[in-house]
Amino acid sequence: MERYDVVIVGSGPAGIFAALELIRRGKFKILILEKGPSLEKRSCPERITGECINCRPCRVTSGWGGAGAFSDGKLTLTTDVGGWLGEYIGNTELAQLIDYIDSIYLEFGGSREIHGTNEGKVRNLSRRATLAGLHLIPMKVRHLGTDRCFDILRLMRDHLEGHGVRIKTRTRAAHLIVEGGEVKGVHLASGEDVFGRYVILAPGREGSDWLAGEADRLGLETTANAVDIGVRVEVPAAVLAPLTEELYEAKLVYYSKSFEDQVRTFCVCPNGVVAPEITDDITTVNGHSYAEKKTDNSNFALLVSTAFTEPFKRPIDYGKYIARLANLLGNGIIIQRLGDLKAGRRSTPARVARSVVEPTYAEATPGDLSFVLPYRYLSDILEMIEALDKLAPGIGSPGTLLYGVEVKFYSLRIKLSPELETKVTDLFAVGDGAGITRGLVQSSASGVVAARAIAGRRG
Ligand SMILES: Cc1cc2nc3c(=O)[nH]c(=O)nc-3n(C[C@H](O)[C@H](O)[C@H](O)COP(=O)(O)OP(=O)(O)OC[C@H]3O[C@@H](n4cnc5c(N)ncnc54)[C@H](O)[C@@H]3O)c2cc1C
Repeated sequence: MERYDVVIVGSGPAGIFAALELIRRGKFKILILEKGPSLEKRSCPERITGECINCRPCRVTSGWGGAGAFSDGKLTLTTDVGGWLGEYIGNTELAQLIDYIDSIYLEFGGSREIHGTNEGKVRNLSRRATLAGLHLIPMKVRHLGTDRCFDILRLMRDHLEGHGVRIKTRTRAAHLIVEGGEVKGVHLASGEDVFGRYVILAPGREGSDWLAGEADRLGLETTANAVDIGVRVEVPAAVLAPLTEELYEAKLVYYSKSFEDQVRTFCVCPNGVVAPEITDDITTVNGHSYAEKKTDNSNFALLVSTAFTEPFKRPIDYGKYIARLANLLGNGIIIQRLGDLKAGRRSTPARVARSVVEPTYAEATPGDLSFVLPYRYLSDILEMIEALDKLAPGIGSPGTLLYGVEVKFYSLRIKLSPELETKVTDLFAVGDGAGITRGLVQSSASGVVAARAIAGRRG
């Protein structure tokens, strides 16, 4: 049996940063297991042919770099978004870790440009947001860009391999080996066992079902997170410019009058494209911005957060149900003009063609989102668009395009110590898969927390 000091399951930002921190802190024999392909083999057939062939595992969310590899690479440098790590380590330590994570991305080639630093302009926007009934979360954002993310991830891999870290892609962890309440290693889907004195689980959203199954098998306590459901909004870039020019990612929160639900902007993509995201058998919407390729449109998601109360405990299934409904009616993603939605009619190809906004995801099916989204979500979203229109006039115009549905599922949250250790001794769980983060910065930071705990134990 191969023996390692630390076995890391998953090579997304959480797993990569755990390994980077370990080699900075001592001499560890490290193995990273990744069920997806290497970085160079991660090309998505859909991006080339326009057709998803359901790769298993999906090359967008699996492989070296994890979900982050194809991500937009927006580093949100604040404790207020991107996860709940502050609940474990405290916000002061999280703020320090965020600076540290940012410095490492910079070291590996992150862009020096940073948005949201002009305090006067941010204060002014914040005041205007308040008058419109919105709350602006001020934050600094470093935008790496999807293209640059690839280079950074390649350099990180080469650096780790250069320090003796063993990386096995296309290798799936099947079960954890636990004896007497202590982790002993990982049983692989290939039938082999690898011994690990410490094991860090960083399987991301892609591996969250697997992790939930293992948690169940090992008797680890879990709780459900909220589910976020909504639409992606596409407008001419000039309409969003008052927000994106200074802030890049404007995090705005609105509490709806009818339901007092929290609605928020998410993943703002200036001059970007709308894109499908395929997970298992469902297609949802997402957006990207490329550092080099710019479009004339900008897009962002509007998401309504729902935390279900007793007795319902399956928010992920609920989100999937809504996404499947959109897929059933629209054969994938539905697109609708805001004017059509308000007028109670479906969009047709001819109506979309008359919109001032030319869709960047032309494969979406013109349809009617009111057949998909419950009244509560629709009315929350329409209310927020109205408020946003006061801040950036034009967002509420009839030609604005809405794509549905965008759903953000968050993994079950595993009960963890402040060092992110599970009830099983020396078994750590980090990143999006553990349900404690939902972004590049906090997932990376969570890997560092576990690595430091391990380095501390080794002395
Ligand atoms: C399209 C898109 C755009 C995004 N844009 C941004 C952005 O701009 N800014 C931002 O902050 N966040 C963004 N995110 C979110 C960000 O990418 C994630 O929060 C982050 O990647 C989570 O890191 P992680 O390491 O926890 O998991 P992941 O990155 O998901 O990595 C987990 C890895 O583990 C592997 N794995 C799973 N199970 C197993 C197993 N059993 N055995 C072996 N390997 C396994 C998976 O294949 C995967 O490669 C985006 C996400 C997507 C999908």
